[in-house]
Amino acid sequence: MISVYLRFVCVVHNFLLFSVRSSQCRQVVKEIPKNMANCVENNYDAIMLEDGMSARQMINAGHGLTYNDFIILPGFITFSADSVDLSSQLTKKITLKAPLVSSPMDTVTESDMAIAIALCGGIGIIHHNCLPEYQANEVHKVKKYKHGFIRDPVVLCPKNTVADVLKVKKEHGFCGVPITENGKLGGKLVGIVTSRDIDFLEGNDNSSIKLENVMTKVEDLVTAQSGVTLAEANSILENSKKGKLPIISADGNLLALMARTDLKKSKSYPIASKDENKQLIVGAAIGTREEDKHRLQLLAQAGVDVIVLDSSQGNSIYQIEMIKFIKKVYPQLQIIGGNVVTINQAKNLIDAGVDALRVGMGSGSICITQEVMAVGRPQATAVYKVAEYSKRFGVPVIADGGIQSIGHIIKALSLGASTVMMGSLLAGTSEAPGEYFFSDGVRLKKYRGMGSLEAMDRKDAMGSAMNRYFHNEMDKLKVAQGVSGSIVDKGSALRFIPYLQCGLRHGCQDIGAKSLTELRNMMYSGELRFEMRSYSAQLEGNVHSLFSYEKRLF
Ligand code: IMP
Repeated sequence: MISVYLRFVCVVHNFLLFSVRSSQCRQVVKEIPKNMANCVENNYDAIMLEDGMSARQMINAGHGLTYNDFIILPGFITFSADSVDLSSQLTKKITLKAPLVSSPMDTVTESDMAIAIALCGGIGIIHHNCLPEYQANEVHKVKKYKHGFIRDPVVLCPKNTVADVLKVKKEHGFCGVPITENGKLGGKLVGIVTSRDIDFLEGNDNSSIKLENVMTKVEDLVTAQSGVTLAEANSILENSKKGKLPIISADGNLLALMARTDLKKSKSYPIASKDENKQLIVGAAIGTREEDKHRLQLLAQAGVDVIVLDSSQGNSIYQIEMIKFIKKVYPQLQIIGGNVVTINQAKNLIDAGVDALRVGMGSGSICITQEVMAVGRPQATAVYKVAEYSKRFGVPVIADGGIQSIGHIIKALSLGASTVMMGSLLAGTSEAPGEYFFSDGVRLKKYRGMGSLEAMDRKDAMGSAMNRYFHNEMDKLKVAQGVSGSIVDKGSALRFIPYLQCGLRHGCQDIGAKSLTELRNMMYSGELRFEMRSYSAQLEGNVHSLFSYEKRLF
């Protein structure tokens, strides 16, 4: 009886597929009971003019696949690229407007990166290769960030000299410095020194003049009280024609600074990722050792929204116990478990209560895990397998590592990931920690694996990076699972991330998916078609046959 019914559904579905447009097809697919999903997918396989194959067919064909091994076949366009909705779930309770996450690595995410990516609709995860207090302070900076306000201005005291201001100018490129009694942010504001105060000083050597003798005194300054909005501060600066606006508390202590130059640059970020208090959201990574509970406490006090349990092999008793501990003591925190690449690994962490899973083992650009440990999984297969299982429990998947381009992001999302986590793609931006340096005339920044010997040897890290790669106190001899290298300057993440988003929208448009939810539905229904790429197909798909070329991306 059931088989007759199934056959009947398939015949009807076949008929409808030919007679209605693709969007309507999808509607039909949605309406067909779940237990017939396979029948529907086989139908797609049978009738899509035998073109391409479903994700399930492709992934189950045998070899583990990477993003480069396959391509997505284009669909039907009925909408403009800017109407594509990129919102996607990070965890069970947090939805982002952009499916982008920055990796908890000490050359990728501290507060500057976390602020930039959250302003653009994603989220940053602050690394834990540092003291717990330092990490909690980075979280605090993100939570307290107010767009347009400089929250950690360089501050001097009245006894500092003109030479100190010139040094600030040399190091930071500006010389508008607020002066407080104790020379610190939070101290009583007594004045400000700008280039106007020191440029026209008479005499040959003015560098030893004390700032109290040249600064513009507080009674002559225009200031604003804490709580002032960006728009109000903007108009105060405009009306006063001043270059700097100190923001002070009711008792005159310096809280922040606003600069006219920054205001001109500042634009609004309508899709910024914010909590219910309108503060940017941020994540932080921790390990699974007993001492990580202290770190966790500080992070929770600083207002962290998401905790990432940072293990290269997350399927461990240590992680399961930590998940249970966090759920009990900090029920408000969302927990991302991982890393996992198999269904069995995922099952254990889902059973323990994770709110999302981080998928990837050995796919990172700086990673030598597969080479050294002989374990891991090609990333495309890992993402599909884990996502396909986790979706039954409403647990979103983060595709972590191996993202080299916008195309890879689209591929990860089209295999069921809800978000992607990026290291190398963001490491060269100005918001990534570390200074630029030149090598052979190229402007570079350092980028290193958290399992590289260099990262594990970091003096102020209290062994936290080791925590990701070793579970056992007995592991005295470090075995590197990552390398240390450099990466080319990419400019500001505030320009680079919108470029990624724009590319994602165009990719979805070509596929015919108006949203990431639709993209996943198309994949699971079998409507989204894939094809394997031979080696020469991969060569053909890249730039070729040119004598020379310049690859400018945006
Ligand atoms: P990428 O985006 O390809 O550069 O990969 C970044 C990801 O690599 C991170 O999010 C981590 O999951 C992973 N990773 C970071 N450090 C190491 C390491 O030292 N060895 C292996 N994997 C690493």
